[in-house]
Amino acid sequence: MNVTHHHHASKLSRNQTEILSCLRKSKEPMSAYAILDQVRTAGISHPPTVYRALAELIEKGMVHRLQSRSAFVACDHGACNGKAAFAICRECEKVVEISLSDKDERVLLALSPKGIAPENVTLEIAGLCEACRPAKGA
Ligand SMILES: [Zn+2]
Ligand SMILES: [Zn+2]
Repeated sequence: MNVTHHHHASKLSRNQTEILSCLRKSKEPMSAYAILDQVRTAGISHPPTVYRALAELIEKGMVHRLQSRSAFVACDHGACNGKAAFAICRECEKVVEISLSDKDERVLLALSPKGIAPENVTLEIAGLCEACRPAKGA
């Protein structure tokens, strides 16, 4: 058994710890099935187990869901209140988390037209990271 104790993971269940460390090791967002593939060796083999642990990690602010690709990333800051936008490289899928202030969020929500009462906002910026830019320009 290879059990690693992470400081921040002290209150996490074993499944949550496995899935979080898998996401932290990944350089790109992972779908639930990609995660399932990785954690099979740790004895997690049922999709509902993965979905439940992901939902709990999202609740704790330690994992975020990228709506545009139905994929998951570990929080850049360990954990946050989930008020975050994301910039995603369209070449290598590198994701950078952008913290949104309360004011940022209010401004974005205020874009909603009269007919829709805004509840939450998802902001994902696509572009090219530094590493992918020179190669594309050459
Ligand atoms: Zn975060
Ligand atoms: Zn890139």
